[in-house]
Amino acid sequence: MIYVEFTALCSYFEQLEKTAKRLELIAIIQELLSQTPTEELEPVIYMVLGQLGPKYDEPNLGIAERMAIEALRNAAGVSSKKANEVLNQVGDLGEAARILLSKERSSSLEMFLGGDSSVYSAKLSVRQVWNRLLDIALLTGEGSAKMKIRSLTKLLVDLDPIGAKYVMRLVMGKMRLGVADMTVVEAIARAYLGDKELKPIVEQAYFKRSDLAEIAIMAKEQGVEALKSVRVEPGRPVQCMAAQRLSDPEEILEKLGGSCQVEYKYDGLRFQYHLDKNGHARLWSRRQEDLTPMFPDVINALKNALGNAPIIVEGEIVAYDYEKDRIIEFQTLMQRRRKYGIEAKLEEIPSKSFLFDILYVDGKDVTSLSLPKRRELLARHCSCSKKTELSTSEIVSNVDDFNEFFDQAIDANCEGIMAKDISTKSVYEAGARGWLWIKYKADYRSELADTFDLVVVGAWFGRGRRGGYYGTLLMAAYDPESDTFPTFCKLGSGLNDEDLEYLKTELEKLRVPDKPKNVSSELEPDIWVEPKLVMEIVATEITQSPIHMVTDEDGNRLALRFPRFTGRYRDDKDPYDITTVQEIRELKKLRIQNRD
Ligand code: AMP
Repeated sequence: MIYVEFTALCSYFEQLEKTAKRLELIAIIQELLSQTPTEELEPVIYMVLGQLGPKYDEPNLGIAERMAIEALRNAAGVSSKKANEVLNQVGDLGEAARILLSKERSSSLEMFLGGDSSVYSAKLSVRQVWNRLLDIALLTGEGSAKMKIRSLTKLLVDLDPIGAKYVMRLVMGKMRLGVADMTVVEAIARAYLGDKELKPIVEQAYFKRSDLAEIAIMAKEQGVEALKSVRVEPGRPVQCMAAQRLSDPEEILEKLGGSCQVEYKYDGLRFQYHLDKNGHARLWSRRQEDLTPMFPDVINALKNALGNAPIIVEGEIVAYDYEKDRIIEFQTLMQRRRKYGIEAKLEEIPSKSFLFDILYVDGKDVTSLSLPKRRELLARHCSCSKKTELSTSEIVSNVDDFNEFFDQAIDANCEGIMAKDISTKSVYEAGARGWLWIKYKADYRSELADTFDLVVVGAWFGRGRRGGYYGTLLMAAYDPESDTFPTFCKLGSGLNDEDLEYLKTELEKLRVPDKPKNVSSELEPDIWVEPKLVMEIVATEITQSPIHMVTDEDGNRLALRFPRFTGRYRDDKDPYDITTVQEIRELKKLRIQNRD
């Protein structure tokens, strides 16, 4: 049966919520997609992912938790005491909405609606619910908070309790279905192309456009050939290409065919700059956060350097001391990542960008050209200036030159170098962490200082000096194979007072009542949090330990020894971008080899 009602979609949400098994999730979404008419596909895809639009351009509803609670109180006609009681009990606003709205609706609701009870029986389609949420996002300016609450109240009233539960979760950005982008990618391949083996084609198309709804519609209506011909387009962020890592220059050179392009690895913020055909400039981070408002100086400099024709380039922003002509450390740049007071910081912390790739120019997608060709195009189209330069680079074909370039990079305040393939196969691989780029960081030279980007999944309350704060965090790595976050260490060291304050508020926002489905843990922290907050960790060693869930190939459990926070919150990284179980296994092997 083809459905369009939101209530019917919610019954799929219920099924998804009940399982954590990837294959089951895929099967449910496949079934859902095959039952969804094309007109409803757009909101269905976003909602399954817990979003209201593509990640790079998601509408901001502007509804704080207390506003959502007020709407729920109005809709259910209950006192704030009652609402809080239920909320404290279940710890999730969606579930609280379901419970409170299941009860007989009281007369205060009718008062709120001015006696109009006809709306109760409205059967909203998925698109209608979506449109009403999008309308809420459009309300801005004075008095908009009240109007938002009123619109949300009406929407809750028009829905059945299960519908209200999921709308509430969508509004709060905590859908909790455990559905990752790649799960939907596979379901699209199965539902519309009839073959899971065609997943890479859907994936490639998605990596180039970053909008799964668009890709789903294309797969359904036009099939494989259309997906294959998808090209990158200015105005739509492309998923960033990532690097592998190795700790031995000789091995790197060998892997790259004897010679390669080495570039400084700037310790800053990666960006993708787009100028679209309407002259609209935007800057996205590697996790597709819109950086445009934060870096007006960078945008101006890039416009000057790159001209007025549509283009996509990539590079790294660093904070720069123009007097001393030096790169300033990463933490300073992070002070520029703010929503308010941007102007004040512009002069205090000047920036500079180093460009290292080009994806679109002269009306064409150039991602399938080799790196040397792309570099040539980049050089041709960039009029460098004090504020915009190309990454420092060189072609090397022996270890001595490699090492010398590395030392120069460290002297220039960079964190290491990137070694890049220059053969004819060196295309720009959107979304891939392949062997065409290999990073070699300063840390690898000292035996004990690999850095790990791990995500917080839980925390314990602190004692003594840390009373009132979270004293210890439970950290996890990412396993792309099972799409889970297995725990890898407890973290307590390296947290200063500022961190403790910061973590207190941040973790409160991410707190969930029980273990997220995609977290694999045998420990029971005092609170669980959604895996979102990424922190950089150093440690002395990877050891065997029975209490954590990362394993080596033989199934031995692994953990970090003496983990310490470096002071860097990697909020430029998505949780799916953090250190993977596979990387940990590789590192462990390298360690053992080094020792031998
Ligand atoms: P990592 O964050 O350790 O995985 O290293 C990869 C990151 O290095 C990229 O996402 C970029 O942000 C950054 N990077 C710095 N310099 C370069 C460069 N010359 N080429 C490519 N990536 C670079």
